[in-house]
Amino acid sequence: MKLIKYKEKRDFENTPEPEPKEHKSGTKLHFSVQRHQASHLHYDLRLEMDGVLKSWAIPKGPSMNANVKRLAMQTEDHPYDYMLFEGEIPKGNYGAGTVEVWDKGTYTEPEAEKGKAEKALLHGLHKGHIQLLFKGKKLKGVFDLIHIKNKDEDRDNSWLLTKRDDEFAVTDPYNAEDHLD
Ligand code: MN
Repeated sequence: MKLIKYKEKRDFENTPEPEPKEHKSGTKLHFSVQRHQASHLHYDLRLEMDGVLKSWAIPKGPSMNANVKRLAMQTEDHPYDYMLFEGEIPKGNYGAGTVEVWDKGTYTEPEAEKGKAEKALLHGLHKGHIQLLFKGKKLKGVFDLIHIKNKDEDRDNSWLLTKRDDEFAVTDPYNAEDHLD
């Protein structure tokens, strides 16, 4: 079961987070970015894929500036119902702190033919280079999510998220904390 790690890390008697449940992807794929004020502030990217949310923790948050690479650590798959979760994870629980949705919308694979986006995304996930076309309120246009090959196994979950230089890219420094609204 894909959500076994998610389940192992949590006690659902003590956290308001959704219980593990698999989901069938619709024709449109959804994404969200959650601002997670845990022991360290970070942003969590959630991508609807393969019945779950493929997830990455981005310490500095995403950037709309195409010259900036942001470290994105792949974390355990989350249930689809986590997409719009907001709330307080109580002290003593995994990820204790405040979760709020920072951005949400639909996304696709920019080069995939109609109806084949999910397949292309999964292929990208396996080969270590996912192309993403976001249609969010804050994240717009194409991004690359690239796995960093690393001999140190502990860091095998490291990826880099970079905005591609398209019409939505900005040239000024971009800090997600300046876009909380
Ligand atoms: Mn998190």
